[in-house]
Amino acid sequence: MRREDFPILNEKVHGRELVYLDNAATTQKPQVVLDAIVEGYSKWNANVHRGVHHLSQVATEKHEQARKKVAEWLNAVAEEVIFTKGTTDSINMLARSFGDAMVNEGDEIIVSQLEHHSNIVPWQMLCERKKAVLKVIPLREDLSIDIEAYKGMLNERTRLVSVAQVSNVLGIINPVEEIIRYAHAKHIPVCVDGAQSVPHLAVDVKKMDCDFLVMSAHKMYGPTGLGVLYGKKEWLDQLPPAEGGGEMIEHVRWDKTTYNVLPYKFEAGTPNYIGSYAFSKAIEYVQEQGIDDIARHEEELVEYIEERLSGLKHVKIYAAGQKKAGAVSFNVYRVDGGLIHPFDVGVLLDRQGVAVRTGHHCAEPLIEHLGVPGTLRASVGLYNTKEDIDKLIAALERAIMMLE
Ligand code: PLP
Repeated sequence: MRREDFPILNEKVHGRELVYLDNAATTQKPQVVLDAIVEGYSKWNANVHRGVHHLSQVATEKHEQARKKVAEWLNAVAEEVIFTKGTTDSINMLARSFGDAMVNEGDEIIVSQLEHHSNIVPWQMLCERKKAVLKVIPLREDLSIDIEAYKGMLNERTRLVSVAQVSNVLGIINPVEEIIRYAHAKHIPVCVDGAQSVPHLAVDVKKMDCDFLVMSAHKMYGPTGLGVLYGKKEWLDQLPPAEGGGEMIEHVRWDKTTYNVLPYKFEAGTPNYIGSYAFSKAIEYVQEQGIDDIARHEEELVEYIEERLSGLKHVKIYAAGQKKAGAVSFNVYRVDGGLIHPFDVGVLLDRQGVAVRTGHHCAEPLIEHLGVPGTLRASVGLYNTKEDIDKLIAALERAIMMLE
C-alpha cells in the first residue's frame, strides 16, 4: 500500500516518526484528496443546483458525479444517496424523519450494547419525544452480539433495528446479514452503522439488504464534514424530510410547501460540494488499491497486533481472536493486577510518536460492560505496516516498564 501518497505520514511528532494508529477516529488523506479540495476552491467554486452560469454548472456536475461514485461504491442508485455532515448527522436525520413518521407511544427501537453514542443518543431522544422504548441487544461472554436474545426481542411493536456492522471499540464484525434477515422476517427495517465497516470491507447495500446505511467520509480517506445516509428508495419516498430550507423544496407557498424529489428532499441548504468531490477522489483511490486487498492487508495487521500484544505480559486484549476489521482494544495491568489507566499508557505512547486512542471511544455503555474506565485502541488504515505495529509494541514495552 502506498504510504508515500499521504503527506502527513512524513510529519514528526515530538521529534519522532509518526506512527498513526488512530484510523477508527479519522483517517489521513492522500494527496489526490488534498488536491481535489484545492482544485475545487481554486478552479470551479460556485453554489450548486441554482445557477445557470458556468462555474455553478461545473460544481453541480462534480457534486452529482460524486453522488454517482458513492452509489457505485455502495451498490445503490444515486437518488438513494443523501449527503449529510457525517454518520452522526445521518442517524439524527433518520431518527427525526423515520421517528416522526413511523414511531408512536409504546413502540420499540432496538440497538445493541456495543453501539457508538451516535447510534444510541438520537434514538434515546426519539424515544423520549414519542414515549417509545429503546431496547438493547445484550452481548455474549465473548462480547459478540447475542443473536438468540435478539430474535426474542423482535415483536409487533418493533419499528426499527439499528446496529453497527463493525464495533468501533472492539473491531468485531457483527453478523448484520443475519440481523437483517430476522428483522425482515417480521417486516422490520434495519439501519446499519457503516462508519467502521465501509472503509475496511466491501459493503454492498443490495446484497446486505439493509434499509438504511450511514457512514462518514473522513473515516475513509475523505474530508471531514461529509457523510452519507443511504436509504432504500421505497423508504425514502415515504419518509418526510428531516430539515427544512433551500434545496429541499419544490415550491414554497404561504399555505403549503411541496418538497423536492429524491435525494434533494433530504438535503436542506447548500451542500458540501467540494467535500463530495474530494470524497469521490478518495473512493477512486480506494478502488485503485482494491478494497479486497485493503481488507486482506488490514486483517493481517490486526492479527499481527493481537499476536504481538499477546506476547506481552499483563496485557488484556478484548474479544481476542474474533474476526475483526480495523481495530483492536486492549488494556495493560500492573504485576499486582491493578489496571494501568489507559490515558497514562496513551500519553507515554504519544511521547514516542505513536498515536492510539484511549478512553471510552464514545461507547460508554460498552466500556461500562467491560468494567474498565476505558481502553487503548490501535486501529489501522491501508497505509499502516507491520513495522508500525513493531514500533507500537516497542513503545508499549517502554511505557509498561515506566508504569509498572
Ligand atoms: N458510529 C461509529 C461506529 C463510529 O465509529 C463513529 C465515529 O467514531 C460514529 C458512528 C460517528 O461518526 P462521526 O463522528 O463521523 O459522525
